[in-house]
Amino acid sequence: MTHREGSAAQHPSFRRAACLRFFPADRVSLLWALGRIAALLALLSLSGFFTVRSFTDSPGETFTGSLAPPTPTLGALALRLRGTVEHLAGEIGPRTLAIPDSLELAESWIRREWQAQGFEVVTHPFESAGGTAHNLEVFLPGTDPDLPAILIGAHYDTVRGTPGADDNASGVAVLLELSRALHDRRLIRTIRFVAFANEEPPYFQTAGMGSLAFARALQEEQTELLGMVALESIGYYDSDAGSQKFPGGLSAFYPDTGNFVAFVGMHASSQWIDRWVEGFREVAQVPSESLSAPSMIQGVSWSDHWSFSTHGYNALMITDTAPYRNPNYHGWFDKPETLDYETLARVTEGLTATLAAIAAE
Ligand SMILES: [Zn+2]
Repeated sequence: MTHREGSAAQHPSFRRAACLRFFPADRVSLLWALGRIAALLALLSLSGFFTVRSFTDSPGETFTGSLAPPTPTLGALALRLRGTVEHLAGEIGPRTLAIPDSLELAESWIRREWQAQGFEVVTHPFESAGGTAHNLEVFLPGTDPDLPAILIGAHYDTVRGTPGADDNASGVAVLLELSRALHDRRLIRTIRFVAFANEEPPYFQTAGMGSLAFARALQEEQTELLGMVALESIGYYDSDAGSQKFPGGLSAFYPDTGNFVAFVGMHASSQWIDRWVEGFREVAQVPSESLSAPSMIQGVSWSDHWSFSTHGYNALMITDTAPYRNPNYHGWFDKPETLDYETLARVTEGLTATLAAIAAE
């Protein structure tokens, strides 16, 4: 459709007349009208504030005390976490289907680690634009197999051009330590540990994304889950003020020091997110924050939990917030020496206790 030039609606005097008709002619009525508009705007921004506030509220209290000195157990855990990150990010480096063999090297190393822990590893192949990739899974059977299981996942691939220490060798390291710590425990619920391929671009949120293939298969089998957790970029901490950034408008609700771990997901999973952050806060010596918000808020859907949320499962990611804190995000300097392994070990201990508590419910 085209508009006719010189029509009455385009004429300046017509526009001025329409404008004048919109506002009352006398001064008192005009002031009343402006007052009502101002009150309406104030009400809208107040309700916006409380809506966002409800997204950012977390149950329990974040850790603020002074840290207990590291125990030998914590020190050994930090060393193992570092060993995993150094192997994946330091020795293998970028891990993607686009670089022949790199993803396979990571995959076979993770398989051997789980086998050494005493697990039988199930390989789930799936097709993607770059060829066949594999998700790896191990089961920790619960004493009540009828209860819906908990699924803990981390992606082991990277984008091209980054060693991916934080994103996401750190998540794989925590995944391997959770399965190791709980291997001999008899918990009520089954826990499924999964290492996903193809989380990163160019596969992110496409049919070739590993977690999407996995979540779709679960839904097709009508498998129930209590919920899913994605361990996503979880090893970068900074205690300097101003080190933490946030997507639009959220900075008013959070500290600007990047020393916390974040529990983030879509609003439909808010109870699942609350359960995790509350459990973590009861046991962990690391500050924590949470966000359950619509996926239109930038960053909220940026990991494998998205695949599970879109298939109707409870899901969240546990993260250091990646690009909102780590200046090396998706870059060549995302290297093993940039991570804080003692804090990561404290996070891992907190997550182990939280997972064990939820699996005992
Ligand atoms: Zn990434």
